[in-house]
Amino acid sequence: MQTALIVGAGPVGLTLACELARYGISVRIIDTAAQRTDKSKALIIWSRTLELLDRGGASAPFIDAGFKALAVNMIAGEKAVGHVSLHNIQTPYPFGLMLPQSETERLLDLRLQSFGISIERQVELLSFTNSPHGIEAVLQRADGHQETLSAGWLLGCDGAHSTVRHSLGAPFTGETNKSDWLLADVHMTGYRRPDSEASIHWHRDGVLVIFPICPGRYRVLADLPPAGTERPPTPTLEQVQTILDTRGPGGQNVFDPIWLAGFRINGRKVSEYRWGRVFLLGDAAHIHSPAGGQGMNTGMQDAFNLAWKLALVIRGVCKEELLNSYTPERSGVGDKVLKFTGRITTIGTLRNPIAQKLRNTLAHFLLSKSLVQKRFAENLTELAVAYPCSPLNGSSLSGDSLKPGARVAPVARQAPIGSGSIPRFALFAERTPQVADLLKQFEELLDPNLRPAMSAKALHLVRPDGYLACSASSTTPIGNYLSKLLK
Ligand SMILES: Cc1cc2nc3c(=O)[nH]c(=O)nc-3n(C[C@H](O)[C@H](O)[C@H](O)COP(=O)(O)OP(=O)(O)OC[C@H]3O[C@@H](n4cnc5c(N)ncnc54)[C@H](O)[C@@H]3O)c2cc1C
Repeated sequence: MQTALIVGAGPVGLTLACELARYGISVRIIDTAAQRTDKSKALIIWSRTLELLDRGGASAPFIDAGFKALAVNMIAGEKAVGHVSLHNIQTPYPFGLMLPQSETERLLDLRLQSFGISIERQVELLSFTNSPHGIEAVLQRADGHQETLSAGWLLGCDGAHSTVRHSLGAPFTGETNKSDWLLADVHMTGYRRPDSEASIHWHRDGVLVIFPICPGRYRVLADLPPAGTERPPTPTLEQVQTILDTRGPGGQNVFDPIWLAGFRINGRKVSEYRWGRVFLLGDAAHIHSPAGGQGMNTGMQDAFNLAWKLALVIRGVCKEELLNSYTPERSGVGDKVLKFTGRITTIGTLRNPIAQKLRNTLAHFLLSKSLVQKRFAENLTELAVAYPCSPLNGSSLSGDSLKPGARVAPVARQAPIGSGSIPRFALFAERTPQVADLLKQFEELLDPNLRPAMSAKALHLVRPDGYLACSASSTTPIGNYLSKLLK
């Protein structure tokens, strides 16, 4: 079997390794770093990521270790402008799971070890060749020892400064935001909201964001005027206190900082995620504003999207063309995430007093509408991610509100779609002799367990990652769809 070489054991490389391992694919995963990050970096695991983790039966340890955030408040001065609650969204996980990235990586690493795979640490990818037949990768250990590894596929999960992306010469287009930002993970007293709610304060000087990490511990984010230094300066605890006093409601006291950092926002993305036998995922493919905590989640979902396709190709079940859907699907999502996070950042950091006033009035009006609240919550939690223009989309039943490419919400008390050890499509249909024949004919691709029909006489075919592939009123279009995928 062809080996998949994963470069980078951050949250994205680890997610991909776990998915491929559960599908029985031979995996090597390397990382230059001697140990995983000890920083909290990405703090939120959103609902859609939890649903996708659940397919491998992996969400429980994360839920046990994390803290549930249930709502976000927008506040301008003393006035509550909006309150977006997550409890109405249709998912088994109606919350943002607050969990430091160091913990997320620890739990993913533990899961990977349960498949008998260890991260090869202090191993660096130096260079590689990418031919239609395979990859030759030059790896170097900390002692200088070099190895040339032949692999079937190379997965670049090596972060924002990706060696894989640089070696491919893939343009990483976009820009760096001029403002400096302050990040502080601190202990704090006097938080005015329930500990399960985040607060975004729009102040005339800029934005102040307070996220609960767990009771008594918070992440504080704020934009600052550009310092004009080469690197953004590391803030002091006094600076954090001053920002809270100026932009917050007052009465909050910070102490015992856990992590203080300065950063600048880059919005950059590649347009091609697939380069022959090489793929880019996570920060190697896209970086953007941390507003909305989308970065790590988007990267992990790149991994969920690619893993089942690659596993079916490596197992020799599907044609290699299946992999061509990775770029249009995930690059499309990346573009939307860049736009969404950029927009939230721009809105929060408006400086013009007239624009600020207009923003506050408009936001108050819009966020009082339940439909706007729902849309915002679905975007934030990434439940809105869909692939409406995917080349993988097949036929659609006329009048059916569920269109190909849409997420099919998991149903409580049913095994999640794609939960087996081989990636398989799920069929929602009544059992008829024709349906029984279809299951037999495509046993390599179809889950043998039928799901209840979504509507009378309708058949819905759902991908292993829980998005609708096609719908029809007979088995013929479903069979044609599956035949096209088979090798
Ligand atoms: C200060 C800060 C705050 C953040 N806050 C948030 C947040 O609130 N929400 C959010 O969603 N995101 C946040 N992020 C971003 C989030 O951390 C990233 O999106 C996430 O880490 C991306 O994961 P990744 O696996 O793609 O890359 P990384 O986590 O960067 O992992 C890449 C790995 O590749 C390894 N590597 C690199 N080159 C090589 C090579 N040549 N050979 C072998 N190994 C290599 C590195 O050692 C590293 O371990 C934050 C980031 C920072 C820095």
